[in-house]
Amino acid sequence: MSSTPAASETTTRFDNVAALIEKLEHQVEDLFELSALGAYTTDSDGHCLSINSQALKWIGCNSDSILGKKNPALPRALLNWEILKRGSELLNDQGLNEIELSLFDESSRQRYFLMVTTPAQTSAGPAGIRRALFHDITEKKRYLERQRISAMAFDSRMGICVTDQDWKVLEVNAAFSKITGYSSADLRTNSFDVFLSTEIDVAKKQEIRQSLVAHDQWEGEIRARMKKGGSFTGWLNISAVPVTNSSKRYYVACLYDITERKATQEEIHRLAFFDPLTELPNRRRLNDRLTRMLSVIPRSHLLGALLFIDLDKFKAINDTKGHAVGDELLIEVALRLQRAIRDVDMVARVGGDEFVVLLGDLSANIDEASYQVNVIGTKILRSLAIPYQLENCVFTCSASIGIAMFNHDGRAEEVLQHADMAMYRAKKEGGNALSFFDPAMKDAASAYSNLEQDLRQVIDLNQLELFFQPQFDVLGRVVSAEGLLRWHHASRGLIGPNEFISIAEESGMIVPIGLWVIQAACDQIKRWDSDPILSHLQLSINVSTRQFHDQDFVKKIAEIINKTGINPARLKLELTESMMHNLDEIRSKMQKISELGVRFSLDDFGIGYSSLASLIKLPIEELKIDRSFVANMLSSPSDGIVVKTIIAMARSLSLEVIAEGLETENEKDFLYANGCLLYQGYLMSPPLPQAEFEAFTISKIQVSAKSQATVGT
Ligand code: C2E
Ligand code: MG
Ligand code: MG
Repeated sequence: MSSTPAASETTTRFDNVAALIEKLEHQVEDLFELSALGAYTTDSDGHCLSINSQALKWIGCNSDSILGKKNPALPRALLNWEILKRGSELLNDQGLNEIELSLFDESSRQRYFLMVTTPAQTSAGPAGIRRALFHDITEKKRYLERQRISAMAFDSRMGICVTDQDWKVLEVNAAFSKITGYSSADLRTNSFDVFLSTEIDVAKKQEIRQSLVAHDQWEGEIRARMKKGGSFTGWLNISAVPVTNSSKRYYVACLYDITERKATQEEIHRLAFFDPLTELPNRRRLNDRLTRMLSVIPRSHLLGALLFIDLDKFKAINDTKGHAVGDELLIEVALRLQRAIRDVDMVARVGGDEFVVLLGDLSANIDEASYQVNVIGTKILRSLAIPYQLENCVFTCSASIGIAMFNHDGRAEEVLQHADMAMYRAKKEGGNALSFFDPAMKDAASAYSNLEQDLRQVIDLNQLELFFQPQFDVLGRVVSAEGLLRWHHASRGLIGPNEFISIAEESGMIVPIGLWVIQAACDQIKRWDSDPILSHLQLSINVSTRQFHDQDFVKKIAEIINKTGINPARLKLELTESMMHNLDEIRSKMQKISELGVRFSLDDFGIGYSSLASLIKLPIEELKIDRSFVANMLSSPSDGIVVKTIIAMARSLSLEVIAEGLETENEKDFLYANGCLLYQGYLMSPPLPQAEFEAFTISKIQVSAKSQATVGT
């Protein structure tokens, strides 16, 4: 059939339109295919007519298994396809704009989708054809959920505060304001730690900031103030939250108010460890303390004592005067006991009328320690025996005390048991008495107290003598000596200073005794002046703490030096590290003495805690390595290191260093190898009486002169 021009024109136009439609259809298909949405169409019977790859991916099948079919075969795809069809039906039937549904992914986890109405559903499309569009809203939904949870958390009873990296508050919740008493407006204009400022010490604030810089986190208990006064105890947890792709960070602080919990804990602790009537520690707390003491004694080498105190006839008082008076009496006894002891000691109530006093920090000398305990025990007995005036009646009530001394190998129950047994012995003797578990202790204590009495006359009876222990240089020459005190006791014979110096310290006798030593030393130096061999000797003497702190100490030394007319540079005073407490006072006193020309040595060095910084500031010329280090330096690596360090330290400070207590050649070799060139010890000579010392020194010089002559020939 030929066509007219008009007809062919129509045909051409029609072809163009068809091509255009086809092009548009391709574009639509491309769009359909490339869309981030899932899209498909179905016919009126529910056969799938088209479907894009996104939809296939979410449904979980390929196009062959669904195109032209009513249902895909795979179970997950079938389930998802059913859900989608149902969603689409609902959209249509109920005239909704969108509907939320969830499909299952390959791991059977739910993902959420929003299916929206398409123009095909609202405008008239080919009969029965349905087009569905849906997109994944899982991430958005999860994000919203997280936000909802965060908001809920922010509303919790825990205080939350978010700050920027300069601690400027950005957000606080109501709980935070409630705990601190600061409104969010107060806080927002302030730095986060405004409420920490007065109560938390600077060191803690520093610790918090340092921890946040180093570990991004800090957690701990704080005591902080509230805006309107008062304070609270809180548990604070601060974490740094870095901002992705930025060096910025936020801080999130969570604060719990633990004031009440803390108070309850303290109450529980009080009930568990304290006696409610007298408020003294109870038996359990005493046991804890005793056990702890026993475990630390080896380090400090101190002795301790436990005094078991039982009131005599308490039961009779309780029965005759009534329980109220009995209670009052126990409270009064507790007060008297507390007054009788030192702060470092402990009183506990361990039973009805049974108390325990625990004494630590006693002398390392067992005799002296027994004496100290005896003094305290007697003081307690006297204090408890003073009449009591309670509820308008006056009566007396004495006590019996049992004492057990202990050192590091004691066991807590055993110590208590021993003191208890000793207490029964005191009771048997009629009460108002004290008894040592080990009777030898009682003897030691009384012998010690006799010694104290005797010491008062030591100068008048002319019983003191200065011995001299030579000090040597590397060539074996006697270059100096240490004056060491001896006491010729009338009945006990020669007594060494370890037995009496601490008694002298305690009774104050050390001041006149110390002066006697200075006088004796200066007299000696003066006598040596006229001897060509001995005139070069320097003499060291020991000065104890109380003596050094005596206010006339400097004046008296000056007087003695002037009177004897000696060269003060030949006198050296040995101080110990334990004196170095009040450094300013010590320094000014030492300065005055060194202006007289007298020199200083630091005795027993190494056992204290002298810091290098403190030494530099003092006019010290010599360090004396303590003999306990010398004795152990070859067998104990750590002592060896201490000795080497002291020598190196002395050298770097241009101080002399001398080792005391040398007993073997090996010790001397070690010291020499490490740069210590002055020695004192039994290896060369013990302390000697004056005449023997002089003879020894002269003989040494002759020997060394002889050996030099031998070397020379
Ligand atoms: P210190 O000042 O550390 O004196 C050294 C002590 O070590 C002396 O004991 C001495 O005899 C002893 N010793 C010396 N070489 C050896 C040795 O090789 N092995 C052993 N195991 N020991 C050695 P001493 O004379 O019994 O004096 C003991 C402490 O008494 C002195 O220790 C000093 O602190 C004090 N002291 C002595 N005389 C006086 C004094 O006049 N006044 C004061 N306040 N204290 C004094
Ligand atoms: Mg000494
Ligand atoms: Mg010493």
